[in-house]
Amino acid sequence: MIEADVAVVGGSFAGVSAAIMLARARRRVVIIDEGATRNRFAHASHGFLGMDGAAPEAIREKGLAEVLAYSTARHVAGRVTAIRGSVGAFVLEGAEEIRAARVILAFGQRDRLPDIPGLADCWGRTVAQCPYCHGYELADRTTGLLAWEAIPMHHAVHLSDWTDDLILLENGVAMTADQAVQLSRPGLRRQAGRVVRVHHMQGAIDAVELEGGERVAMRALYLVSWQEPASDLAEALGCKIVETPMGRHLQVDDHQRTTVPGVFAAGDLARPFPSATQAASTGNRAGAACHQDLLGILE
Ligand SMILES: Cc1cc2nc3c(=O)[nH]c(=O)nc-3n(C[C@H](O)[C@H](O)[C@H](O)COP(=O)(O)OP(=O)(O)OC[C@H]3O[C@@H](n4cnc5c(N)ncnc54)[C@H](O)[C@@H]3O)c2cc1C
Repeated sequence: MIEADVAVVGGSFAGVSAAIMLARARRRVVIIDEGATRNRFAHASHGFLGMDGAAPEAIREKGLAEVLAYSTARHVAGRVTAIRGSVGAFVLEGAEEIRAARVILAFGQRDRLPDIPGLADCWGRTVAQCPYCHGYELADRTTGLLAWEAIPMHHAVHLSDWTDDLILLENGVAMTADQAVQLSRPGLRRQAGRVVRVHHMQGAIDAVELEGGERVAMRALYLVSWQEPASDLAEALGCKIVETPMGRHLQVDDHQRTTVPGVFAAGDLARPFPSATQAASTGNRAGAACHQDLLGILE
């Protein structure tokens, strides 16, 4: 059994950034992490200060090594399976039992993708969601944009700075007359028909196949994934969840406090528009706020 001031569930951008604040405040902090970051499907992570283009795993390992250089920080590899108790006396179950006065949830989100054979094999390589993350590398290609549950109007405009050959794959999603007018511009063509397969060579997309067998050639594809917490720990604790058209995340206040006393949340889990830098930023804030909460000086 490990006793700590704070237990941090998830040891990636958010969790490590939170833990380092607590370690620097000389508090006993334990990070429990299973090591499956949301961006693990990509070979390179972009836009993170000082590590642009580094492998996601390399960034996580470097951050973890930095925090573990502090004598009051510990790391447990594995998954937290349950959290019980309340502020001042939480118990975390999993690889090891951990008792902690406060908990920071930083276990990230998982992406739900359309169930189309071949698509998941390309995810993070030539199938992407965020053009800031991957658009530079995928630029100037014939690019698909997959409608899925809704017409991705934002992406349809957004991608115009990365490609002038964009194909909106309607995929059976109905379009309003207003949307059709907005989407009528040079460089964007509409393709009717349901997408039934993604053809690729080791994650490099060649084409999508439509119902009926027609193939539409492309070298990149974007879609808007549906995101939800990577674990049900927060809901089991009673933390309030916010529903958005893009998925579900935890409700937090300006100090990253969830609706459950003594439980903070940071990273993708607590934001509707995620990125590694935003995750690190909210982790930093959660770590400092949690420390001040331990001292009883958090407003
Ligand atoms: C394909 C893809 C590519 C991306 N590329 C970029 C990019 O280039 N640049 C960028 O800024 N952003 C990128 N992102 C977004 C980025 O991955 C996230 O914003 C970032 O990883 C969020 O950090 P986090 O710390 O909140 O969560 P994560 O990085 O997802 O880490 C959560 C950690 O918690 C662990 N965990 C989960 N449940 C438990 C549990 N019960 N017990 C213990 N541990 C647990 C996980 O294993 C994981 O290690 C990309 C996302 C995707 C999907």
